[in-house]
Amino acid sequence: ASAPKVRRIIVLGSRSVGKSSLTIQFAEGRFVDSYYPTIENTINKIIKYNNQEFAAEIMDTAGQDEHSIMNSRHAIGIHGYVLVYSITSRTSFDIVSTIRDKILNYTGTENVPTVLVGNKTDLGDAQRFGRVFVKKNFGGEQESLKAIALSMRVISTEEAQELAAKWGCKFVETSAKNNENINKIFELIIGEVEKSNNPQTDS
Ligand code: GDP
Repeated sequence: ASAPKVRRIIVLGSRSVGKSSLTIQFAEGRFVDSYYPTIENTINKIIKYNNQEFAAEIMDTAGQDEHSIMNSRHAIGIHGYVLVYSITSRTSFDIVSTIRDKILNYTGTENVPTVLVGNKTDLGDAQRFGRVFVKKNFGGEQESLKAIALSMRVISTEEAQELAAKWGCKFVETSAKNNENINKIFELIIGEVEKSNNPQTDS
């Protein structure tokens, strides 16, 4: 077999959306709770896709501010972009649009192979429980304790799907903590890069 094709993938998004966590989860199969946040890391991993092997070089960018988050260095020699937000943060969701604008600006293209990733699903959807006191009498003597589900989710799946449809890119929700859909991110991005290399097979 021929040598695996190199695919340079960059993981972008605002600070603390889980870029390092999902990259490490993919590379090492473990969740590191307190990863040193300013390191810019590249991991290498062979990804099998369509019976082919790809040598993925995944660059996990250090969380900086909105302006420095994407620079021209991040547009050179990159095959695919993984844009991450947290389902618990509206700001992080807004920032992926800013980053995408910058990518298109730097690359001077109308489209680039992209996967939109909504991370931290474990914090949404009734995973956490809070308690409310319900006063039964005006006197307040009898109170009942009721457990209610609290979701930290602020970005719905539908809203993100709409954005992905607008961009014509793939979308997946993940939990780096629970190792949910982490492999999927990288399968999808390899697929998107292949599609862009073989537009005649685009579906
Ligand atoms: P980065 O700045 O985007 O690289 O974010 P990190 O990977 O450093 O993660 C920021 C914080 O979010 C850390 O405390 C992580 O443990 C936490 N985190 C990352 N991914 C998840 C996840 O899927 N679920 C939960 N609950 N926490 C996460």
